[in-house]
Amino acid sequence: MTAPVPLIAGNWKMNGLRASLVEAAAIAEGAAGSPARVAICPPAVLIHQMSEMLAGSGVLVGGQDVHWEDAGAFTGDVSAQMLADVGAKLVILGHSERRSGHRETDEIVARKVAAALRAGLEPIVCVGETLEERNAGQASPVVTDQVRGSLPAALAGQPFSVAYEPVWAIGSGLTPSTAEIEEMHQAIRATLAERFGPAAQAVPILYGGSVKPSNAAEILHAAQVGGALVGGASLKAADFLAIVRALQA
Ligand code: PEP
Repeated sequence: MTAPVPLIAGNWKMNGLRASLVEAAAIAEGAAGSPARVAICPPAVLIHQMSEMLAGSGVLVGGQDVHWEDAGAFTGDVSAQMLADVGAKLVILGHSERRSGHRETDEIVARKVAAALRAGLEPIVCVGETLEERNAGQASPVVTDQVRGSLPAALAGQPFSVAYEPVWAIGSGLTPSTAEIEEMHQAIRATLAERFGPAAQAVPILYGGSVKPSNAAEILHAAQVGGALVGGASLKAADFLAIVRALQA
């Protein structure tokens, strides 16, 4: 089974106005020819303009969340079909900021993943333990339970990735050791294999949490790491491109 093509995705979170589209244009210019798939996930209101601007560049545009229903009386929500309609190709689901701030359970995440698949979006499903869970020696069981609960059977044969994002590493400047990252990615790979068999080898498992130009090469070359989900450092083209280039360092 061939190794998955690495995916490096930027999560802009609730940052960026139309003026920030210049950063996306610079990312597309600098990422040309990269062996990785490169994606930017801006706030939903920028997806249409960004996908038109980046069309043909090779850089993909994604969303950061969807509702689990396709349409209906859900004031303020956005459906997967709507994101696909304005040009999104991927979507981040189950980010820890949604799990903690919006009480998203594994079951809700799984329903959102199914909705994304119905709309033809490629899900990036996030999992990760809190510091308390890690300190209690529970990192691996917590994360593998999240993987089991958040991935619906409908994913079999579909393109998707899993992002391992320790909650305590997000936006904190802290990162696990390379050995800890490899241990968690190995546990996720084994859990994917339980569900999807040999096809699990083709699923990119991204690392996310304080990836920056100075640590990207070591993280991206760790065993079982198939790319990165990058928050803060994806907002500036120079930093994000340095991370994309670290794949070839
Ligand atoms: C994220 O929120 O997905 C993330 C990885 O953030 P940061 O890179 O800023 O830690």
